[in-house]
Amino acid sequence: MVIPLHQPHITGKEIAYIQQAMQSSHLAGNGFFTQACQSFLEQKYGFHKCLLTSSCTDALEMAALLLNIQAGDEVIIPSFTFVSTANAFLLRGAKVVLADSQKNHPNLDANQLEQLINPRTKAIVVMHYAGVACDMTAIQAIAQKHQLYIIEDAAQAIDAYYKDKPLGSLGHLAAFSFHETKNIHAGGEGGVLVINDPQFISQAEIIWEKGTNRAAFTRGEVEKYAWQALGSSFLPSEITAATLYAQLESLSKIQAKRQILWQNYQLAFADLEQKECIQLPKIPTSAGHNAHIFYVNCPSEKVRQKLISYLKEQGIQAAFHYIPLHGSPYFQKHHAPPLALTHCEYHAQTLLRLPLFFDLSEAQQNKVLDCLYNFFRI
Ligand SMILES: *Cc1c(COP(=O)(O)O)cnc(C)c1O
Repeated sequence: MVIPLHQPHITGKEIAYIQQAMQSSHLAGNGFFTQACQSFLEQKYGFHKCLLTSSCTDALEMAALLLNIQAGDEVIIPSFTFVSTANAFLLRGAKVVLADSQKNHPNLDANQLEQLINPRTKAIVVMHYAGVACDMTAIQAIAQKHQLYIIEDAAQAIDAYYKDKPLGSLGHLAAFSFHETKNIHAGGEGGVLVINDPQFISQAEIIWEKGTNRAAFTRGEVEKYAWQALGSSFLPSEITAATLYAQLESLSKIQAKRQILWQNYQLAFADLEQKECIQLPKIPTSAGHNAHIFYVNCPSEKVRQKLISYLKEQGIQAAFHYIPLHGSPYFQKHHAPPLALTHCEYHAQTLLRLPLFFDLSEAQQNKVLDCLYNFFRI
């Protein structure tokens, strides 16, 4: 029996809600379940306005359109992130400027941020890795000083906090993912754009609905709807939203279990850290993380490779994260290399993710723990 890295949890209510959507005969987007999911998120987290999307990638692309990012603009993003963070802005013709990670954490290093800013810079995109908040006080102060927009790539950050504020509420815009690998999912693919700066709300609805004011028409605010701006088809179907709604209703339960599993790893590995076999994640006290990923840092890339192979032999999936954007074939083909991003490279070479999902059993987790101890022979 293989212990996977991820496994999407099914709450049991998805099918009933999908059936309800089917029976309502409203299958396209922006129906009952879409609005129910959006209201749920707005109420629970105090987000100003939410628009469901087919993916977090879509939500990031909407953000780039909303900020009117153009050729000649620069956007600062971490190199330690998923490709969607970069693609969204490159598709609009911007230049992406890659930032390094912190020494102790893969998140963007706010201390090195200001040197990347110039008059062409328009926005800073932060990515809260593993649902651990970036240093938002410092980043917000820099953004304010230089009059830059902040976008949160909060793909991994549902139900995570910075001090007492939920992640996704700290940028002008934020994007969450409900891909099957995230804490909750929308049946495979899904996302949401959060609009915290009210100036963007009406334009966001237009971009969302193929560049038309159809959302206003649906509410009876206009007699006809028409092409108003550049847009695309970003809204998901009601089937997607119905699935997500079932997951949202179980969010607290899912989160409680994930937190326990995460803590189990952290406590069980304290000994391995003391003996300098691995390093455990360093969570700043300002970050209330959401147990999205449990990772350790191995002493070297070589040890990590051996450990991945050993765990694979034992039927356990474990994985690295990420090939940094500046080391990717696409970036290297099209861009001059940035200055050395040494902290980012350290995490990319040593970080190892372990299985963490709602249905991970005690026996399965114990097997992972035993295997790590066996590998280091303690
Ligand atoms: C998962 C993820 C995405 C992409 O999310 P999709 O919903 O699959 O588009 C983007 N950024 C980060 C940091 C992610 O982890």
